[in-house]
Amino acid sequence: MSRPCLPAHRSCPEPPVELPLRAPSLKPAPVEGCAVCAHAAAWRQAYRTGNGTADGYTNRSAAVDCSLEIRNHPHEPRVTRLPVDAPAGRP
Ligand SMILES: [Zn+2]
Repeated sequence: MSRPCLPAHRSCPEPPVELPLRAPSLKPAPVEGCAVCAHAAAWRQAYRTGNGTADGYTNRSAAVDCSLEIRNHPHEPRVTRLPVDAPAGRP
């Protein structure tokens, strides 16, 4: 069995891999001053805690949707259909 000729060793075969400065986060931060981001963040909190949702239960799937919308800033087009009103919120 014959082995193919290996190329001569090079000290720097390829340019270094550039990693993105910000890895995609599961919990993106809302953009300051953006009403849609703030709204999505409020609903994400409500869905995570169950505090403010219509049925009072948590909804992880909906919370992830809110994160997607925040990451989708400036929201053109919108990726999720958030409730129009702010979450109710109980003290
Ligand atoms: Zn935004």
